[in-house]
Amino acid sequence: MTSLDKVRQRAENDAKTYGYYLNPDTEFLQNLLQGLRENEERYGYPSCPCRLASGNLEVDRDIICPCDYRDPDVIEYGTCYCALYVRKDVFEGKTPLQAIPERRPVAKQTRSYAPASGTSEKKTETAPTSTKETPRIRKKLWYCKQCGYVVFREDPPYICPICKAKREMFAEMSIQVDD
Ligand code: SF4
Repeated sequence: MTSLDKVRQRAENDAKTYGYYLNPDTEFLQNLLQGLRENEERYGYPSCPCRLASGNLEVDRDIICPCDYRDPDVIEYGTCYCALYVRKDVFEGKTPLQAIPERRPVAKQTRSYAPASGTSEKKTETAPTSTKETPRIRKKLWYCKQCGYVVFREDPPYICPICKAKREMFAEMSIQVDD
C-alpha cells in the first residue's frame, strides 16, 4: 500500500522540479492526496482525483497525475484542474484560486463512461430475465450540492473541480441507461 507521505513526497518533488507549488490549504491538499492514493490502490496508477477514470490504463494515461493538462492549465490559469498544483502567485495569495474549464477532450472523457473490458462486472449489469433484453449499465450520477456540478462516476470526486467543495457535498442519483 502506498503511504500518504509517499504520495505527498512525490507531488512535492514534482512541484519543485517544475517550479510549481502544492495547494496551500492543508485540508484541501490532504483530500486530494488521499484521492490519489485511493485511485492508485484501486487502479494501480494514481489517476486524477477529480476526474472519472475507466480503470483501463490506455484510456486513462492522459489523466495519470500529473496529467497531460497540468502544465498548460497552470501556465494559463495558475492552477491544475483539481487545484493540487498551483503557480507561485496563487500559492502566495496574490491571485485568487478559481474554477477552470476542463481541458481534457470530451471524446476522451466519454471513453471513461464506457465499461472497460475486463472490468465489466463492476460497471455492467445484464438483465437476467430474458436473453432479448438490452444489457443495462448502472451509472451513478453525482451532483455537487454547492454549485450544481454533475458527473458520472462510481464514487463522488474528492474535490469538486468547479467550486472546490469537499466530497461530503456530493449527493448521489442512480439512473439506468441502455447500453
Ligand atoms: S488535474 Fe491536477 S491533480 Fe488532477 S491529474 Fe492533473 S495535475 Fe494531478
